[in-house]
Amino acid sequence: MGKVNTVLGPVATEDLGIIAVHEHIGFGLPGCDLDTQWWKKPEEAFEVTIEKLRRFREHGGKTFVDCTGIGNGRDVEYFQVLSRRTGVHIISVTGFVAGDSALPYFREKSEDYLMDLFIHEITVGIDGTGAKAGAIKVGVSRGGKLSELDKRIYRAAARAALKTGVPIITHLCVDAETAIAIFDEEGLPLDRVLMGHADDGGYLNEDRDTLIAEHGGWVGFDTIGYDSEMEGAPYWSRPRQDRVEHFLRFLDKGFVDVALISADANCCALGWPGLKGHSVNYLFEEFLPDLRKAGVGEEVIEQLLVHNPTKFLTMQEPQDLKPSLGRTKQESR
Ligand SMILES: [Zn+2]
Repeated sequence: MGKVNTVLGPVATEDLGIIAVHEHIGFGLPGCDLDTQWWKKPEEAFEVTIEKLRRFREHGGKTFVDCTGIGNGRDVEYFQVLSRRTGVHIISVTGFVAGDSALPYFREKSEDYLMDLFIHEITVGIDGTGAKAGAIKVGVSRGGKLSELDKRIYRAAARAALKTGVPIITHLCVDAETAIAIFDEEGLPLDRVLMGHADDGGYLNEDRDTLIAEHGGWVGFDTIGYDSEMEGAPYWSRPRQDRVEHFLRFLDKGFVDVALISADANCCALGWPGLKGHSVNYLFEEFLPDLRKAGVGEEVIEQLLVHNPTKFLTMQEPQDLKPSLGRTKQESR
């Protein structure tokens, strides 16, 4: 029987239900706790967060993957309280959203140091809470290319993933060739990696989406709801219909087996306003209705929300992880 680490302990994969695979209880850059402009009282933050998680539960949502890395607002004891109060399984991650949002403390550390850090958080626990990380977060720093630090983090993450069997979630899939080469060199099959934010308005490239899918990697349409129609939409937003059509084209290419969807929303953003009105529930309230209107069937929707993310998140036995180098499209699907 497969399992996944949640903040309240391991959960059997058949209990994960509907999963939002890339979300945030609250993301902010290091130092956001000292922000004076957007800072909220803990009880205010708690109120809005609980409300969104309860609504997620009402929509049938059962598992929420918090992709906030080390030093970006990850607060595992808080996540434990939220999980107990709402009944939502919360999965916390080790790793960093990207090199440029890592705490300066970690910036000069070696690949081995970072690997050990990730393994400790996956096998022993985070911050002495005993809660173990269920995935590793890595990402591309601003600028659109993996920085030297990003690459060190990717290598460390690949090695930790091989040793522990947890998957990797990336922030952005720009510079995909470099990332894929690193995972290949480390011997990590790409089906253990969710290459995230393929739908990010700032970095669209459908040939790249295809390249990842053909290598057997998961392609994340996981900034859903950052629509340019929304008031105060950030720079990575795009017109709502463009994203829907992009996703439908991806499905039409036969890639439903490697597609993952999520909103990358904040229940309560830290040190920035977040996007007002956007939450994980956008998936149920806006995106799924758009897909249904376009003729996407319930079976596909269940695959996107349950079966695909369950398969991706399930911890593997390290000996079962075989390199994906040279796989053809047919073999990888
Ligand atoms: Zn995110």
